[in-house]
Amino acid sequence: MDYLGVVLLVAVVAAAFVVIARSSIGQGHRARAERARQLVLAKRAAEADVNGFGDELSQLSILGEQDAAAADLYELATALHHRALEALIAARRPDDLCQVTEILEEGRWTLTRLTAWTAGQPTPSRRPPCFFNPGHGPSTRNIVWQHRSVPACAADATRVEAGADPYIRTVERDDRRVPYWEGGPTYDGWARGYYTSWRGNRLVADIVPSKV
Ligand SMILES: [Zn+2]
Repeated sequence: MDYLGVVLLVAVVAAAFVVIARSSIGQGHRARAERARQLVLAKRAAEADVNGFGDELSQLSILGEQDAAAADLYELATALHHRALEALIAARRPDDLCQVTEILEEGRWTLTRLTAWTAGQPTPSRRPPCFFNPGHGPSTRNIVWQHRSVPACAADATRVEAGADPYIRTVERDDRRVPYWEGGPTYDGWARGYYTSWRGNRLVADIVPSKV
């Protein structure tokens, strides 16, 4: 190979390296941007639930001071709200949001106990969150929906049994809103956390294996 041939070969090889390097850098940027976007979406879902829990808690602030048992439950719920907020801030991957919703599940159950106590009612049995929107809080009973037994809050159970649609939690996917169970891996951690302590329980047997 003459001198010109060697120069040309070196130039071609160098150009090829530049193209490959640019391409892999571009792919790396796109992958990082996509991961960041998924974290924003998952955090948005969890943040809405943390805020909803906080709103319910603030409406009960006066009740919590009425007696020692209510004050203890209120203090526990407040601590859980703070823990959920800290876990939300600390989340670095969409899957980390499972820690937020696991805390929220306990928090919503604590609020249910507090509400029953202050109303002078017996403490209801602990139940899994409403399937249609875990942010609705603990379910009140299981109903049959699309051939599956699903835990539902009182409002959704009444709607479904009257032939109406439940209030299904939707999330953003590809610039449109879909039911959360069609939201893809972005929301897996968020949904799974709500049912972590219910894994293996017959009340969630029809929903947990397939989704969370
Ligand atoms: Zn519901």
